[in-house]
Amino acid sequence: MITLSGKSVFGGVAIGKLAFYKREDKQIKRHHVDDVDAEIARFEAAQNTAMEELGALYDKAMKDVGEANAMIFEVHQMMLMDLDYVESIRNIITTQEVNAEYAVGTTGDNFSEMFASMDDAYMQGRAADVKDVSDRLIKILSGGGESGVQTDEPVIVAADDLVPSETVQLDKEKVLGFATMYGSANSHTAILARTMNIPAVIGLGEELKTVYDGKDAIIDGFTGTIYIDPDEETLRVMTEKREEDRKKKALLEELKGKENVTLSGQKINVYANIGNLSDVGAVLQNDAGGIGLFRSEFLYLESEDFPTEEQQFQVYKQVAENMAGKKVIIRTLDIGADKQVDYFNLDKEENPALGYRAIRICLTRPEIFKTQLRALYRASAFGQIAIMFPMIISVSEVKRIKEIIEEVKAELRETGIPFREDVEIGIMIETPASVMVSRELAKEVDFFSVGTNDLTQYTLAIDRQNQKLDNFYDPHHPAVLRMIQMAADNAHAEGKWIGICGELGADLELTETFLKMGLDELSVSPSMVLPLRKKIRECE
Ligand code: PEP
Ligand code: MG
Repeated sequence: MITLSGKSVFGGVAIGKLAFYKREDKQIKRHHVDDVDAEIARFEAAQNTAMEELGALYDKAMKDVGEANAMIFEVHQMMLMDLDYVESIRNIITTQEVNAEYAVGTTGDNFSEMFASMDDAYMQGRAADVKDVSDRLIKILSGGGESGVQTDEPVIVAADDLVPSETVQLDKEKVLGFATMYGSANSHTAILARTMNIPAVIGLGEELKTVYDGKDAIIDGFTGTIYIDPDEETLRVMTEKREEDRKKKALLEELKGKENVTLSGQKINVYANIGNLSDVGAVLQNDAGGIGLFRSEFLYLESEDFPTEEQQFQVYKQVAENMAGKKVIIRTLDIGADKQVDYFNLDKEENPALGYRAIRICLTRPEIFKTQLRALYRASAFGQIAIMFPMIISVSEVKRIKEIIEEVKAELRETGIPFREDVEIGIMIETPASVMVSRELAKEVDFFSVGTNDLTQYTLAIDRQNQKLDNFYDPHHPAVLRMIQMAADNAHAEGKWIGICGELGADLELTETFLKMGLDELSVSPSMVLPLRKKIRECE
């Protein structure tokens, strides 16, 4: 048995096989072939396999996400059979006497550049598709597997580290837990593990070796330990611990339907954070009063291209409908820093956390922002949607946002599309600047939601992604707590409500402090709703 220690980011015990996350090798080597006919036949066989794969993806997408989203796989099938595309590949193989992988890669790059240079926005968007189709062919030709985890049964996913776009694309039904060599407790992958309610241990170091792929393992998310090839005694003890945890969670079930009220009668809203439509089930199951933070950027991270207004509208509408009149606070996209999306074509930056991200992208690329706002306002007719803006630092940003909102509303009115006029508008308080001008900001908006993850990062000048600094990253620092108090006092002075949607909201050591501060809402990962309710009900 091998025992490794790391940092726990979510409690619980997971028992299963270890499966390493695989990343395809994108290096394509060019080499000479003697038999060009055989090489063309190899290409054609790969083309047929790709057609079948895309057909299967189309069927799955039809079932999971509907026709509008499934269509993309039909488009990919058409590209794969496109005469010019196929002719270019054959031509490179024949004239240069080279391998099919190289011919496909070169054709993919050429076509992608050609699309990208066109004036038409739709055609520009196809640049990513033709690359995608070519990558699929290369993968088949080189016998490489898909990126991700190939498994039929649920497994413990192991990796050096996972970026948010990799984590969101995992089939959540198949993930028992996460174990990574690196990573920070405040990263979005750690947050996702909590949202998905699965045991996770990070920072296990290089002792977590890929030769352990396929071995039996146990994650003890309470102690931050992973056991590989566990002996019988450890397996017995850990199975018991898993059972105890289940029983404790079952006890919390009794709190469903009960109020979030202290012994002295003070009430507070307990909402849940989500990243995805599929998390709504967990919100309802855990009896949250609403959704306090829907990180809408995950829609962008899961997608290969900008999600259209219609695609976004369908998701927001469904979340609002499923929440049946309970409040759903949707945050506009917070792309940038660790949440990178290829098709945004963002430049590499020296200091991405201080860089071009979130509202800064939205205000400089209003076409992206307006598409999202239109989808949000359209969805507002189907439930109680509120909209929140990330990374705000000034009153002028909020004023500009409100002008854009008015433009969007006017467009919708003109075309007779129904929406709610009184959608609540709020901002994230996650920069020290927003705290310092919170009195002025409060006059402009309906509510504040404190993003303690970034507020801690920016107040303490500590990169939340840097695992070496995890011991310095102290969200209990008096500077952070005073910031929250100041924002709360200023919100209340203007008659506005304030909540916390950063991870600190779930820190039960601070529940009493937050109640004393007079916060109106705490929004936490769905699995923390009932433990938080229990804690509130025990507070004076
Ligand atoms: C935060 O910064 O606290 C927050 C809730 O936003 P995110 O973690 O997505 O940056
Ligand atoms: Mg943030």
